Amino acid sequence: MDKTNIKFINEIDVDITTEDDNEPQIMTLSVYECEACHWRFVGDCNRYGHGYTSEGVQSPNYCPMCGERIKESAEENKKIVWNDDMDVASGLEKDFENMDEFIFKVKRSFKEYTGESCQTENLVLQACVATGKGIEAETITPLVETDIIIQNWYTCEVSSN
Ligand SMILES: [Zn+2]
Repeated sequence: MDKTNIKFINEIDVDITTEDDNEPQIMTLSVYECEACHWRFVGDCNRYGHGYTSEGVQSPNYCPMCGERIKESAEENKKIVWNDDMDVASGLEKDFENMDEFIFKVKRSFKEYTGESCQTENLVLQACVATGKGIEAETITPLVETDIIIQNWYTCEVSSN
């Protein structure tokens, strides 16, 4: 069967109010366009109860209009690196077209792990060094004799809404 891609269009904030809860809850929903049929739709899917406390994804497996399978986002989500507390996300600059795409993918990844939407702040793009072998303290080592790599990383702080 063919597969389609979906293009992220924008996010919309929705106020949710219930009779027993007067404080409106804000839910952020993502709007996509299917590249096969060009219909636009809100992608968010959630399930509650039936053994699930709360589980959510930002986009469905199939386009709700033409029924084509949507290419997996799991591979894409691997580009987002999380710390253990899930409050700092990082991504290599070269994996993203721009900062907006990085933020969008952080939010999507967070939602797939936690079922919740999130906010991001303190976004920075900076050069970082990494080494597998490490370098000895108090020595002078030519860079070419190390396995040090220098790459530009986006980093941001993340908190649930
Ligand atoms: Zn479609």
